[in-house]
Amino acid sequence: MPGYELFGAEERKEVNDVLETGILMRYGFDGPRKGIWKARELEQEICRKFGVKNSQLLSSGTAALSTAMAALGIGAGDEVIMPAFTFVASFEAVIGVGAIPVLADIDDTLTLDPEAVERAITPKTKAIMPVHMCGSMAQLDELKQLCEKHKLLLIEDACQAIGGQYKGKYLGSIGDAGTFSFDFVKIMTCGEGGAVLTNDATVAEKCDQYSDHGHDHYGKDRGADLHPYMGYNYRISELHAAVGLAQIRKLDGFLELQKRNHQIIYNGLKDIPGISFRRIPDPAGDTGSFLSFFLPQAAQAKAVAEELAKAGIGGNPYWYDNNWHYIRKWEHLMNASFMNHIPEEQKQGIMAHANRAFAASDAIISRCISSAIQLGWTEEEAAERAAKMADIIRAVLHHTGA
Ligand SMILES: *Cc1c(COP(=O)(O)O)cnc(C)c1O
Repeated sequence: MPGYELFGAEERKEVNDVLETGILMRYGFDGPRKGIWKARELEQEICRKFGVKNSQLLSSGTAALSTAMAALGIGAGDEVIMPAFTFVASFEAVIGVGAIPVLADIDDTLTLDPEAVERAITPKTKAIMPVHMCGSMAQLDELKQLCEKHKLLLIEDACQAIGGQYKGKYLGSIGDAGTFSFDFVKIMTCGEGGAVLTNDATVAEKCDQYSDHGHDHYGKDRGADLHPYMGYNYRISELHAAVGLAQIRKLDGFLELQKRNHQIIYNGLKDIPGISFRRIPDPAGDTGSFLSFFLPQAAQAKAVAEELAKAGIGGNPYWYDNNWHYIRKWEHLMNASFMNHIPEEQKQGIMAHANRAFAASDAIISRCISSAIQLGWTEEEAAERAAKMADIIRAVLHHTGA
């Protein structure tokens, strides 16, 4: 799954270009930087590769989500519908702009169930934020239809699905805005970093300003910049952008290896009676970064995860007991535990939505294991791993009488 596995001479060369000039900042210093603009170049590569008109690099995927929401005008009193299964960053960003995260159930795609989303829509709903979890996509046609019907914004959290596609379009390029994370364990990495993708020039301009203290960036002289809006510092550095520039050029190679190894693990597990696989709305667009499968019962999934770990076969998270990715362990969200004061209305809204029951999601996540796919496995290593996994799964199913 992660691009860090194939860090090499290409990344070192790009970073060295920056070290040669010593200009580590993405803006200004036009003379001494000697034509080296890594962040700018990576933004152009992102637009070209993913087929969008604009992209804005940020310091993280979380910053990308926050920036996209601010630029789309999401704020106090607004509700954003997001899945109960995602990474904590998704609700951090919603809360950060003053809005309320409304969690909705997922289905067997491991992404938002469009029917649950429709039930969650209220007059306060401003946006739907599907998360393309574990390398594969949400049901974008259905969600887009809901957005059109109810006049809502669509923000794709594509942080875990860089290079994935839906019906021929890249994930992240389809909504009003889409976001990538380039943190160290994502499909491609900058070390730390993120991006907003959008075809809307006004949203893009606001992202550019928001991420750099609101500076308007109209002239050549930073000191003369005016401030049409309030902003923050979510800039990426040239060193991080340089790593990403090397990685994006290798992305197709990463995806090819990932899909190959994904297929080998799938082939090894597909004939086990009783297990089933995540439903993928457009199988051709799967990045292959995880192979997610379901056991018939929750106790069996938990046992398989434990046996795999015991056998030294790592990288098979059982999300139901995982502290980062599922509502069940997000106590800080359920209790609205903030270090500082936030508006009481927002706090009450957060707690009301986080403390609802998520029976449909529980029924899915409690039976699910996602097997992370590595780029570095040879075909033989992948096949050997699949065979060991299959033995363990069969043994658990046998002992539990399935
Ligand atoms: C990684 C991730 C993010 C946040 O990215 P960072 O760069 O780590 O801030 C957001 N959403 C999802 C689904 C992620 O997996």
